[in-house]
Amino acid sequence: MMFNAGATVSLGEDWPDLRDAVAKICARYPGAYWRRLEDEHAYPTQFIRELTEAGFLAALIPEPYGGGGLPLRAAAVILETVNRHGCSASQGHAQMYIMGTVLRHGSEEQKRAFLPAIAAGTLRLQAFGVTEPTTGSDTTRLKTRAVRAGAHYIITGQKVWTSRALHSDLMLLLARTTPVEQCRRKTDGLSVFMVDIRESAGHGLEIRPLQTMFNHNTTEIFFDGLKVPACNLVGEEGKGFSYILDGLNAERTMVASEAVGDGRYFIDIAVRYANQRVVFDRSIGRNQGVQFPLARAFAELEAADMMARRAAALFDACKPCGADANLAKLLASEACWHAAEAAMQTFGGFGFSREYDVERKWRECRIYQVAPISTNLILSHVAQHVLGMERSY
Ligand SMILES: Cc1cc2nc3c(=O)[nH]c(=O)nc-3n(C[C@H](O)[C@H](O)[C@H](O)COP(=O)(O)OP(=O)(O)OC[C@H]3O[C@@H](n4cnc5c(N)ncnc54)[C@H](O)[C@@H]3O)c2cc1C
Repeated sequence: MMFNAGATVSLGEDWPDLRDAVAKICARYPGAYWRRLEDEHAYPTQFIRELTEAGFLAALIPEPYGGGGLPLRAAAVILETVNRHGCSASQGHAQMYIMGTVLRHGSEEQKRAFLPAIAAGTLRLQAFGVTEPTTGSDTTRLKTRAVRAGAHYIITGQKVWTSRALHSDLMLLLARTTPVEQCRRKTDGLSVFMVDIRESAGHGLEIRPLQTMFNHNTTEIFFDGLKVPACNLVGEEGKGFSYILDGLNAERTMVASEAVGDGRYFIDIAVRYANQRVVFDRSIGRNQGVQFPLARAFAELEAADMMARRAAALFDACKPCGADANLAKLLASEACWHAAEAAMQTFGGFGFSREYDVERKWRECRIYQVAPISTNLILSHVAQHVLGMERSY
């Protein structure tokens, strides 16, 4: 790991005002709200609207464009707090990191067109189309093509797992503009587009919802000759992969904090339950067999939190943070899962009862080990880029 001077890591409950304000909103959305949404396969429109109106989802948009102008660490605290209070940050988090691609690589015209409206909540940018059904983690092999035709690009192909596309006005799309055989490197020839879902649906763009083991509002998307104005190309043609990459470090760092938030939620509810539930004339929490898995998961969460803070500090100091962001996501995803398992076991049979919300959160948090990047791919990255070992694939 590189030593990076100039990045400061805060300790303890940093951004306390933000934590308080987010917690107040979350208190209005108890478990019953999330269970009802799950029954109806519905999106938490009202919850996301409240977070937007309070300015939380625009935390990373600079003040001149109407946002909060806060650092990545503050955004991570917002998402952590949402999950810590039993709500679901993943339903709105994408806006925070997707807009970074426009901010860092878009033209001034694009920034003015999109960012103030996103900050005001009149435009929703919640969909990020990268993954494809036949190529998966091998992103540079993606097959969706964008071919220039005068003032437009014509887009043909398919995406899968494009979450929130039915609840978003815009989608940031990664497509190939130059066939890989004609590129010097396979990472060349990919481009990023801002697709206006409202104008496109039914005109070469079809979105179909996918049913999953938790309520995530994810979709598959079919592009059949969709015309996207050339002015919606973000940055330079062919450089999209590198634009996406620097957004991914922000995404992984924020997702790590979300996982820490979920993990702390599990510890909070399991400790409370263990101290109250009496079996064999004593609280189950008096048994070391109940205490130890919770104490161990707590320790893992504290360590993961420190790594997430380090990744955010490096990102905010504009230092390289790829390894740190990946490690934070890896550690947090596993710490959270261990907390989820410990909580399920602590609740015994009641863990299976929907009204306790443990099983819902348990299903929700399994995703961190797979998306936005799976554990194996992080380990491969660390082996190759941090440890200097041979690329394994
Ligand atoms: C609920 C949900 C929401 C999502 N939201 C989005 C979204 O909004 N936008 C988007 O673009 N994508 C999204 N994704 C996609 C997600 O990023 C991918 O599922 C993830 O990156 C893994 O890709 P894959 O599913 O194709 O798995 P694959 O690439 O097929 O991998 C399957 C398994 O094989 C392992 N594997 C593959 N190659 C190797 C290797 N070389 N060495 C070791 N192990 C390997 C992987 O680690 C994994 O465990 C979402 C996925 C889910 C499930």
